Amino acid sequence: MSKITRRGFLQTSSALAGLVGTGVASAESRPPSWRGETRVEQIATNCEMCFWRCGVMAEVADGKVLKLAGNPQHPLTGGQLCARGNAGTQLLYDPDRLKYPLIRIGNRGEGKFRRASWDEALDFFATHLKDLKQKYGAESVGFFPHGVAAGFFGTLMKAYGTPNAAEPAFAQCRGPRDIGYQLTFGRAVNSPEPVDLEESKCIVLIGSHIGENVFTSQVTNFITGLQRGAKLIVVDPRFSTAASKADHWLPIKPGTDIALLMAWANILIVETLYDKQYIEQYATGMKELEAHVKDFTPEWAESMTEIPAAQIRDTAHMMAEAKPAVAIHPGRHVTWYGDDTQRARAMAILTALLGAYGRKGGMFLPTKVKQGRIPLPPMPESERGRADGAGTKYPLATEESQGLTQGLVQATMNASPYPIKGWVVYGQNILESIPQRQNTLKAIEQLEFMAVVDVLPVEQTNYADLVLPEATYLERYDPPAVVTTSKRPFVAIRQPAIDPLYESKPGWWIAKELANRMGLADYFPWKDPEDHLSRLVQPLGINLAELKSLGAVSFDGHPYIDDRKEEDGPIFPTQSGKIELVSSVLKDLNFDSLPKFTAVEQPPPGYMRLIYGRAPMHSFSRSENNSWLDDLMPDNQVWINAEFAAKAGIKNGQVVILENQDGAKSLPIAVRATVGIRNDCAYMVHGFGTRAKGLTKAYKRGASDTDLITRVSIDPIMGATGMRVNFVRVLPTTGERS
Ligand code: SF4
Repeated sequence: MSKITRRGFLQTSSALAGLVGTGVASAESRPPSWRGETRVEQIATNCEMCFWRCGVMAEVADGKVLKLAGNPQHPLTGGQLCARGNAGTQLLYDPDRLKYPLIRIGNRGEGKFRRASWDEALDFFATHLKDLKQKYGAESVGFFPHGVAAGFFGTLMKAYGTPNAAEPAFAQCRGPRDIGYQLTFGRAVNSPEPVDLEESKCIVLIGSHIGENVFTSQVTNFITGLQRGAKLIVVDPRFSTAASKADHWLPIKPGTDIALLMAWANILIVETLYDKQYIEQYATGMKELEAHVKDFTPEWAESMTEIPAAQIRDTAHMMAEAKPAVAIHPGRHVTWYGDDTQRARAMAILTALLGAYGRKGGMFLPTKVKQGRIPLPPMPESERGRADGAGTKYPLATEESQGLTQGLVQATMNASPYPIKGWVVYGQNILESIPQRQNTLKAIEQLEFMAVVDVLPVEQTNYADLVLPEATYLERYDPPAVVTTSKRPFVAIRQPAIDPLYESKPGWWIAKELANRMGLADYFPWKDPEDHLSRLVQPLGINLAELKSLGAVSFDGHPYIDDRKEEDGPIFPTQSGKIELVSSVLKDLNFDSLPKFTAVEQPPPGYMRLIYGRAPMHSFSRSENNSWLDDLMPDNQVWINAEFAAKAGIKNGQVVILENQDGAKSLPIAVRATVGIRNDCAYMVHGFGTRAKGLTKAYKRGASDTDLITRVSIDPIMGATGMRVNFVRVLPTTGERS
């Protein structure tokens, strides 16, 4: 029986990482159904080692998942899985997994629990939520979900009556980008990002480190684009993997991206290099834009960005020559300085000037898919509204967005605008994903009830009253993925490869059981997840058996303006029906209707700006305990400019502690002294340095950037937390890592 071994995995991953510098693997050919006497089944599902949801074939025999491989039928990712996707079995069989329900018997944070039966645990949960509703109203419960799997719990919490749900994907990640592009083109970018990298003639990455940030199809398309001759411009204070492949690396002074973007717009307009016909046909506000960028010359931008004016000109010309096939990647984690919606607007405006939105090689358009709906009773309406400021204090954090996590933390901490007394945390690592952990811990002190539903004993489980062990993605059904931002839209399934291990239960089951106990069963009017699935996919003419066997079914797409059909709706669903170079919505709300550059605070002497990012073998803090991935990358390092390090007497490899401007300290971390970073920045990979003792591999390995993010700069438009406003200095240590 073939089985992927740790040794084989390491060899494969390293070889592939060496080959393309990305860690992306291709699928092997499908094995036969029988190996000797053993029946080997292939179960099609999708990966949850990150949120890209690559198609997976799980090889199962005797109730065990032997191996995961890419599903070659999958329309987005073909047969590819990255190192993390391959290592999914090590999450499934992680000995540290939560195994049965737990009820707290010690103090919060102490981590003392007793084992409970599911009946007792569900009754405990339901009773507490009913009590909180009676005492303080349903809004007094905050919900912190993460990912597609949270859909069932989302329904439960809405039906319960709380509007207070928030996930970091919005305020700590891609919210400003989605709002910025929505204001300009009428629709959010969404995920996967519809950037036509493989057809592009010029790719522009601004703070995106594709290759270290690995999503299989995106990396493949990026490489394909480069192999076909696309030029590459990388704007990054750090010499990233992508920068090493670039025609131009622009090591920009952090916080000055809007100045660069405006200067690029200036050159395109002053030299009449923009796509005049496209702008005349599809855009409004060109005259105002022209007047706005008049003074933003390359020379002006050089003084802000520290990028030579000549290079700003050269790169603008490179884009102009490639137009409209210019892929300006809108980025993903874009919550940097608090002016992030405006930076996203500047990127969208540049995309428009190049005629690249809805055009081959630029950004393509989503295609509508008519998913079925399961009718539910009306959801209760909250009279008090949201507590996190979404839609009120931050007007464009709208109801459809995913809420403001830090707003919910603040509301809980300050009991304002009303008391929040219960938290339900589902699959979100709130102490790592939400900045200012000092506030999160203070907010937890205000709670009368906290429930955590998770697969692993992440740090916050120690603070919970109730911990519910969820089945992993290889043991459960989730709501189907309906993906419209692919050139061929598709529906994909997540289904169990094996039954849940230990006493873990799938999220859908936990939510449905709780609904039964809370008098909310009408909101779950389906027998089981297959019934739920088949009702959702029926209108698409998809047969459930076929979907289960293939894993995904795709449809014809209309990705470019010239292919659009009437049923796809308007090309630019803005207020004006055109690309809004000047945003009418921002104007109405008295925000700047065109992006302006404002200088950000600079690090004091001896300090560097803390920046952070990703590595191909880890997904935030959720993969550090994975034994195979831990072998590949057990901890992180802090990149410091070699000259800066030499002046400060810091040696390469030296273990240090970082301290920020508020005195917050990191765990010990090794220095990587390199010329590949500006001397005003320190960089580390996010997700290490957990203080969760139950994660025996990850516990206190490396350092957490979140420990050092005690300050944020909030985007006034949509409430995202700009987190690159923390400065660190190096405190040498003599000791070992603790
Ligand atoms: S990119 Fe990797 S971790 Fe993410 S879904 Fe795909 S295989 Fe899984």
